[in-house]
Amino acid sequence: PLTIELRDLHFRYAPEDAEALAGCTASFPAGSYTAIVGASGAGKSTVANAILGFVQPDTGTILVDGQDLRGIDRNAWHAQLAWIPQSPRLFYGSIADNLRLVKPQATDAELRQAAQDAHALEFIERLPQSWDTRIGDLGQGLSGGQIQRIALARAFLKNPRLLLMDEATANLDMESESLFLDSLEKLRQGRTVIVIAHRLATAQRAERIIVIDAGRVVETGSHQELLAQG
Ligand code: ADP
Ligand code: ADP
Repeated sequence: PLTIELRDLHFRYAPEDAEALAGCTASFPAGSYTAIVGASGAGKSTVANAILGFVQPDTGTILVDGQDLRGIDRNAWHAQLAWIPQSPRLFYGSIADNLRLVKPQATDAELRQAAQDAHALEFIERLPQSWDTRIGDLGQGLSGGQIQRIALARAFLKNPRLLLMDEATANLDMESESLFLDSLEKLRQGRTVIVIAHRLATAQRAERIIVIDAGRVVETGSHQELLAQG
């Protein structure tokens, strides 16, 4: 797993805008499971995008295992992480194609195992053509929960050192979210996990919660500690 450190990040999307990151400092030790919470507009996605390298902070430094992210090739960086957004896009191919995207040489047994770990195997096997079902041929498409479980299966296959989820369960009902977070318990072993959440309830399973407001970290603690503080 990777250690990520954010050191005093400042960033504005445009010169006339307020700072989206205003002295953001946080550390994500190797193997830790952290949730980032905060109100809408607090800067959570900007933090995620900075870690992904899509946002280049105006000042401040992001360190990956002690190395400045600016000096790391973006493709090499992305090869080490799995990112699951709120509405992952599946491409117009079969379910199997969508998983093999991250590991073209994956065997059928590996696909099955990843799908099982992600609680996706059961619904995939019930699709009209199982693994060969083409996404675009499904009349009503897949439910949000099913799409997220395929995204999670893909993350299992990729075997990433860092797992970064940006409101991945925000559109799911409580039962689907709970299923997703159960799978995450297995996937998180041996990895660094950062979960961006809008609701505190989603963050409950993380070891540590970081609260962001106006582009900086205002609180850090366990779920219980934060509840105790109100
Ligand atoms: P959160 O993820 O916590 O809702 P964001 O990181 O998306 O917060 O947003 C932080 C601030 O940056 C907000 O004021 C938001 O309006 C602004 N912002 C986010 N994305 C953009 C963008 N692409 N262009 C301009 N401003 C943006
Ligand atoms: P929007 O177009 O507003 O971003 P989405 O595309 O994220 O909305 O999702 C709309 C609905 O379409 C989802 O609830 C999902 O059921 C379906 N859907 C979206 N993308 C796919 C996909 N790649 N495969 C199957 N169904 C999809």
